[in-house]
Amino acid sequence: MALSLCKELSVTLAKFPRISLGHLPTPLEPMDRLSEVLGGPRLWVKRDDCTGLSSGGNKTRKLEFLMADAVQKGADTIITQGATQSNHARQTAAAAAKLGMECHILLEDRTGSNDRNYILNGNVLLDRLHGGTVSKRVGGADMNSEMESLAAQLRDIGRSPYVIPGGGSNPIGALGYANCARELTEQAVTAGLKVDALVHATGSSGTQAGLVAGLAALRSDIHLLGIGVRAPKEKQEAMVYDLAVRTAKLMGAGDQIDREAVRANCEYVGAGYGLPTPGMIEALKLLARTEGLLFDPVYSGKGLDGLIDQIRKGYFDGMENVVFLHTGGSAALFGYPDTFDLAGYTT
Ligand SMILES: *Cc1c(COP(=O)(O)O)cnc(C)c1O
Repeated sequence: MALSLCKELSVTLAKFPRISLGHLPTPLEPMDRLSEVLGGPRLWVKRDDCTGLSSGGNKTRKLEFLMADAVQKGADTIITQGATQSNHARQTAAAAAKLGMECHILLEDRTGSNDRNYILNGNVLLDRLHGGTVSKRVGGADMNSEMESLAAQLRDIGRSPYVIPGGGSNPIGALGYANCARELTEQAVTAGLKVDALVHATGSSGTQAGLVAGLAALRSDIHLLGIGVRAPKEKQEAMVYDLAVRTAKLMGAGDQIDREAVRANCEYVGAGYGLPTPGMIEALKLLARTEGLLFDPVYSGKGLDGLIDQIRKGYFDGMENVVFLHTGGSAALFGYPDTFDLAGYTT
């Protein structure tokens, strides 16, 4: 049953133009030491940090569909936007490089940090290394209209720009995560594993929306939980639901999106987007030291903080297998070197 629905979803997704950019399928691995430390359900990690493109991450799956759409529309230039340490910007710059396109990145200063590493290292270093043109905007700028005015300027000089929204989060990008829902389901069936819950960091909402649409198409009973990194719960869930409905519509599969299937816990944001929290630091260190895995301070680290805290609070009681979707982002660590107060370290 599950496998035939996976097949159907593959057929649906094959109708959309797609360029292979990622190392797929990504591995699904047990986290036995972490499971033991926490004493809760058996924990697994879906390694979307290993998608391959420029140190990996979740944006690669979205870019497979977005870049194919750009190519089909005759674009020679990509414009996108994100926060200073945007992983999406870095993966987009890499994808554009691979396809021989120009890439213009607008970075919004959401944190106000003047730290040299934050401004120049980590993802910003990689954006430039991939040949992206990086320009900055003040926090709170209307980034969509900034991108539109840049597109107009580029059209005036004869370029054909294609604008990718922040996080690659529109129905085309979200197809990448409908595909991930299929991939994970196939892996679990093949391994004889019953996945009870899937947890991940949710931001611009394309990842969760694609998963919601994909899981609906698969009639899956996997309990999906997003851990918010920016917006309050009500706003985050509304964004995810809206995009999930539009993604399902694009897929034309006629699936009803159940509002109840959209769950975000936004208690782990702390003082704001991109600002470290003690729980994130603890979670990131714990994973580095029990599983040898790297996460990031902005997204996956806060997502893990949510996972760990909710395990301790009993949210997953009665469930056997919980998968954390590792959305990547460890390149951002190098933008936050002072956050981790590594005792005993001397130069
Ligand atoms: C973008 C990003 C997310 C959030 O994904 P959205 O689709 O924007 O909700 C999570 N983790 C990492 C590392 C990211 O870069």
